[in-house]
Amino acid sequence: FVRYSVHLLYLKKFGQNEVLKGIDLSLKSNEILSILGSSGSGKSTLLRCIAKLENSQYDELRCGSNVGFMFQNYALFPHLSVYDNIAFALNKLSKKEADDKINELLAKFGIQGLKDKKPDQISGGQAQRVAFARAIAAGAKLLLLDEPFSNLDQGLKQALRVELKEMIQKEGLSAIVVTHDIDDAYYLSDKIALIDGGKILDIGTPNKLFYSVKDEKSAQMLGGLNYINSDLTSQDKFFDWIKSRNNIFAYSEIYMGGEFEANVISKSFIGLFYKIELEYKGIRFYTLWPSCLEISNSVKFGFYN
Ligand code: ADP
Ligand code: MG
Repeated sequence: FVRYSVHLLYLKKFGQNEVLKGIDLSLKSNEILSILGSSGSGKSTLLRCIAKLENSQYDELRCGSNVGFMFQNYALFPHLSVYDNIAFALNKLSKKEADDKINELLAKFGIQGLKDKKPDQISGGQAQRVAFARAIAAGAKLLLLDEPFSNLDQGLKQALRVELKEMIQKEGLSAIVVTHDIDDAYYLSDKIALIDGGKILDIGTPNKLFYSVKDEKSAQMLGGLNYINSDLTSQDKFFDWIKSRNNIFAYSEIYMGGEFEANVISKSFIGLFYKIELEYKGIRFYTLWPSCLEISNSVKFGFYN
């Protein structure tokens, strides 16, 4: 199988501003890697460096020769038709070859009927298919995507995530997706890398990253994790467990019923679950319990080992 990798010590400066430092990433063929980070953390710059749209210093950059790029909000050319948007990626082919390829792509993605439409005349889902067709038209094997779903409402986002993942898998591509949205990362990825201040903090499968989280910063980025920042010296079974988890554990690891007794500090109805803040011997933490249950002010709890 093919393996793509990016290794760099210092990579990218804008003037004195070191935007990227310490990047070490790799993915296998047919893998989707998400890079999750807040605004300004260097995600777009990293993607542009990988695509060689930006000059950078690196030790190693192995991405094959054919890289496709899907830009933020798809970035279709507003004045060009769907057909011409895709044709734009095929300017090295003869007119006839390009026409055959475009028609093949339009058919494959079920958008033949849209070929003369302009981007503002098609839906978000259709725009995604056009952008995808344009990105892979020249035969890309590695696809780079910059915040594909920013500015979309939640319902549409979810449908588009599913469709995007299917298209990537069906085409046998590898992909690197950058996003600030943890749900994009969870739904799309085989692996997630956390980026902060131009550095990769951690990388792993979603499950491993979440349940073996390294530090408070990573925990904040992933959400759904408690970080206990208080003295846990007193002799206590629950405290011992927390210490064994480096003071970080997930909301999901606390179950209802069990040998410990806690006060309910707050309780928010969030649909399927209550997000509940508990207090036990001076420490506070959250858990999620099914919202169909009755929750009193004092509850019993346990932890999964
Ligand atoms: P993200 O995509 O994670 O929001 P960016 O990669 O766009 O972050 O930006 C990372 C940092 O690099 C920011 O501090 C931004 O101001 C800076 N930066 C990005 N592009 C340029 C540029 N062309 N010139 C100067 N600074 C830039
Ligand atoms: Mg960006």
